[in-house]
This record gives sequence, structure tokens and C-alpha cells, in this order.
Amino acid sequence: MNCIFCKIINGEIPSSKVYEDEYCLAFKDLNPAAPVHVLVVPKTHIESLDCVNGENIDTVSKVISAIPAVAKEAGIQNGYRVITNIGEDGGQTVKHLHFHILGGKKLTEKLN
Ligand code: AMP
Ligand code: ZN
Repeated sequence: MNCIFCKIINGEIPSSKVYEDEYCLAFKDLNPAAPVHVLVVPKTHIESLDCVNGENIDTVSKVISAIPAVAKEAGIQNGYRVITNIGEDGGQTVKHLHFHILGGKKLTEKLN
């Protein structure tokens, strides 16, 4: 499968790793939108949160459970924002589920 995040997980493409466990990998976004911008991805290929189902919910839940540890490892201290884009209108460019962790400054209230 020609998926850039699967390639990062397999080590075929380098990344700046922030956190890793059995279920997920977190690495710095190449094009940061905030002083801290980390992506958390499941190690198995799930296209987006729109594809969550009874078979992958345990994996998705493990990824979400790792978010506080990822934020801590990334050095975030005073709150952060989690975003997941879904599909074309949601602005998803990489079709492998990922949660953006944004922090390191007071974020704006704009969500769209
Ligand atoms: P989205 O638009 O929600 O699909 O987000 C995809 C994100 O992946 C963007 O913020 C990109 O900057 C980021 N990205 C794309 N390729 C890489 C890469 N090789 N390493 C790190 N981040 C990447
Ligand atoms: Zn993938």
C-alpha cells in the first residue's frame, strides 16, 4: 500500500519520533502549524475516524489513550488541541488516521 504513514511506521521514511508503544507512533509534523505539532497514528492502517468499527475500536482507543503521554513527551505544559481531519471536505491529505496534537502557545479560537 502506498501510504506515507505506513512507510514511516515501517521505517522506510524517516521521522522525528516523539513517542512509541505497541499500538501507535507519534512524530513531529513536517510542516508545523504551532510551536509543538505532533501527529499520533495507529501502527495498523485505518483510513480515518470515519472508518472506526467494532474490529478496530480497541486500536483507536489505545491511540487516544496515548495522547496525554505524547503531549507530555512533546513538552506541552499548559493545554493543547487535538484535531483529526476526515475526507476531502475535512481537509484530510494523508489517508491514514492521525491525530494532530497542537500546543506550545495560546491557540486561537478559530476552528474552521
Ligand atoms: P492532514 O491534512 O490532516 O491529512 O494532515 C497531514 C499532515 O501530515 C500535514 O500536517 C503534513 O504536514 C504532515 N506530513 C506529511 N508528510 C509528512 C512526513 N513525511 N512527516 C511528517 N509529517 C508529514
Ligand atoms: Zn497507512
